[in-house]
Amino acid sequence: GQVNNYRNTLQQAVPTLNNCRNTVQQGVQTPQLPGQVNNYRNTVQQVNAVAGVKPKGEYNGPDPQLAASLEKEILESNPGVRWDDVAGLNEAKRLLQEAVVLPLWMPEYFQGIRRPWRGVLMFGPPGTGKTLLAKAVATECGTTFLNVSCSSLLAKWYGESERRVRCLFDLARARAPSTIFIDEIDSLCSARGSDRWVEQLTNNTTGKPVTVLAATNFPWGLDEALRRRLEKRIYIQLPDFKSRKELIKINLKLITLAPDLDIDQVARRTEGYSGDDLTNICRDASLNGMRRKIAGKNPDEIKNMSEAEILEIPVMMDDLLEALVKIQPTVSRGDIERHEKWFSEFGST
Ligand code: ADP
Repeated sequence: GQVNNYRNTLQQAVPTLNNCRNTVQQGVQTPQLPGQVNNYRNTVQQVNAVAGVKPKGEYNGPDPQLAASLEKEILESNPGVRWDDVAGLNEAKRLLQEAVVLPLWMPEYFQGIRRPWRGVLMFGPPGTGKTLLAKAVATECGTTFLNVSCSSLLAKWYGESERRVRCLFDLARARAPSTIFIDEIDSLCSARGSDRWVEQLTNNTTGKPVTVLAATNFPWGLDEALRRRLEKRIYIQLPDFKSRKELIKINLKLITLAPDLDIDQVARRTEGYSGDDLTNICRDASLNGMRRKIAGKNPDEIKNMSEAEILEIPVMMDDLLEALVKIQPTVSRGDIERHEKWFSEFGST
């Protein structure tokens, strides 16, 4: 009797909780609130579990435990990266907008001949902003975004990877519209049973709007089946002069700059550097003021320095030039040629 009473109370609480849940879903779209949202969400899930309620959009398949562990990755991926935080790559942004973001926003429009690409691949040298773009897509979509690492999908024993992939897609469908981001997708091709894996990828996305967004630094490592599945293939290139300028400005936007700092010159001298290389240069240069300041001081003197005093030290042209000498480009000419060749054969424009 008492149990029933409790149960009734819980069931009455469910509409209120559903309201809560809606708030949570709206909140998930606000990148500043993930902690709070997680708290709400956990409470709602616990109470729902006790009351035996499966709210709409909840995973309803055979692997609730696995789904719960995959779900953690969903919430971690609300990264708050906006399009403007990504320097250059305007064509890639436009393609992603059209291939991933808009179909999720207006599924009715993207039907029939306008059917969205079933899978989108971003390829290019390492450190060019593929992951960053995926994060921007997540933020801009404001819909469910599952950021899965290949290691959470790959398993040693036969059939297990397939089970995980199926669960992932069930979850994505329950939460549709949604995007699944798979980084380093080439590593799945060498995995055992990858043919069955790819089959999952092909079959599972029909019906509810679930888009697969993948990234790789080695597109030539994809087997043909997977390549065909990733219909739209976007080349993420090394930054050109204009993008390098933008990237340096983004990186140094919160830092005090000396008047002699000539961003144009740094951008001219960094041809062949990736976005990641340039970020490392900016990071290194921005630490130089502090290094100069503490040189020759003992630990007590350093501890007693005010932080404001260090924050005010501007980044100077020499700091950047020094970092330029230290940090060399990481992408080889040969690597770029391979990407260009692959692009001319299989890339989309
Ligand atoms: P990839 O996934 O292509 O290997 P990432 O997106 O992880 O590269 O980039 C690594 C880091 O380099 C980013 O976190 C960012 O700091 C910087 N970066 C690379 N490309 C860009 C870009 N186009 N705009 C801004 N930052 C960039």
